[in-house]
Amino acid sequence: MDKKLIIEKERTLPVAGEYDVVVAGGGVAGIAAALASARNGAKTLLLERTYMLGGLGTAGLVTIYLPICDGMGRQVSYGIAEELLRLSAKHGAEPNFRVDGRHTGKTWLEEGHSIEEKKKDRFDVQYNGCVFAILCEQLLIENGVDILYGTTVASACVDNDKITAVITENKSGRQAFLGKNFIDASGDADLALQSGAQTEEFKQGNVLASWYYELIDGKFKLNMLGFADIPDKYKTKEQLENKGKRFKGLEGKELSSMAVQSHASLLQDFLKKGEITENHALAQIATIPQTRMTRRIEGRVVLDDEPFKSYEDSVGLISNWRKAGPVFEVPYGSLISKNIKNLSACGRCISATDTMWELSRVIPCCAVTGEAVGTAAAMFQDFHSADVKALQDRLRKNGLRVKYEELEPLQ
Ligand SMILES: Cc1cc2nc3c(=O)[nH]c(=O)nc-3n(C[C@H](O)[C@H](O)[C@H](O)COP(=O)(O)OP(=O)(O)OC[C@H]3O[C@@H](n4cnc5c(N)ncnc54)[C@H](O)[C@@H]3O)c2cc1C
Repeated sequence: MDKKLIIEKERTLPVAGEYDVVVAGGGVAGIAAALASARNGAKTLLLERTYMLGGLGTAGLVTIYLPICDGMGRQVSYGIAEELLRLSAKHGAEPNFRVDGRHTGKTWLEEGHSIEEKKKDRFDVQYNGCVFAILCEQLLIENGVDILYGTTVASACVDNDKITAVITENKSGRQAFLGKNFIDASGDADLALQSGAQTEEFKQGNVLASWYYELIDGKFKLNMLGFADIPDKYKTKEQLENKGKRFKGLEGKELSSMAVQSHASLLQDFLKKGEITENHALAQIATIPQTRMTRRIEGRVVLDDEPFKSYEDSVGLISNWRKAGPVFEVPYGSLISKNIKNLSACGRCISATDTMWELSRVIPCCAVTGEAVGTAAAMFQDFHSADVKALQDRLRKNGLRVKYEELEPLQ
């Protein structure tokens, strides 16, 4: 027997279900996609490898729903992006996460605030991840989505440039689910890779992130070690030379080692403030890897970071979480696979340049792109044959603004 390679025995798998739309991954993008798909009449299955919805936004402790406004007093993202933001704060938001006091979300969440007040605030919120995960679960079930937890999408069957089934692994073993349209919301373009769709990796890699919740002096506090990174394009020579260790986030061994380092670093940080007492506890650590950009689909369009660029096939609008002002249209072409006709992506793995990826990976854009592909998946035979004008009209009917000129004028 060759000890480096072995051949897995071919086997026949049971078909565990047949759906119109199958969504791989239940982070914010997958939640939005499944919700939109079911609301638009499709029999929808959501496959999630953990036992909790929300992905990085809950299990990954990234509980900051970045702005759905442009910082100039104007809302930019509507529809499910707004619905999920409001849902995340339904039973109360967590205390302000920004030191400058600018980002409270209050002027947007509460009625009766003036445009001048909104200009000084942003439409964002820090939420309780555990509550949000349960509320999302209830919302999807109410809307008729079938959720299958503990289920990893492991492989895909492809025929004639179309996925016919995904193969999953869970406690029941390996099974197949048939579908008409498939949405990759895995964050890492796993399904795209498995189906032979063209993908791109993020070469720069990820900084070590060790976000954790601590109970300290009666407060439940989010500590953000490894806060953020800037794209290499904007780094000085010195910053480039001192980049430190990076993680690509695409290999089992590397991800395990990253988790071990992250745990060690947060424990050390926690203990700097003393031992465990009734006023000091390590309250929550991430149960999925905290990677930002890993792998994405190669779409028909690669979304770039030029603000206010007009796309005829725009299916949603997002803002720039780093600075006030810019608005981006999100073209349908950046969400669909170039070569697999019934595969689209949303969230962290849409087709974007490295600099845009840093903006498009955040929670509001995950919801916007999820709603767009979930709606398209329910409406059309496949993503390549979609009537984009009809899709835009449906999105508008559902309360979205899809083109820049549909926003309120700046005041
Ligand atoms: C350290 C850090 C800080 C960040 N800070 C912010 C911030 O402050 N605000 C903000 O808005 N965004 C922030 N982001 C980005 C944002 O959190 C994520 O990009 C966003 O939540 C991604 O959502 P998603 O649904 O695309 O992917 P994910 O949240 O990664 O969800 C993917 C889901 O798919 C599941 N999955 C993966 N592979 C499979 C498979 N093969 N089969 C079945 N299920 C699978 C996963 O378990 C997961 O639930 C941050 C990210 C990081 C890492």
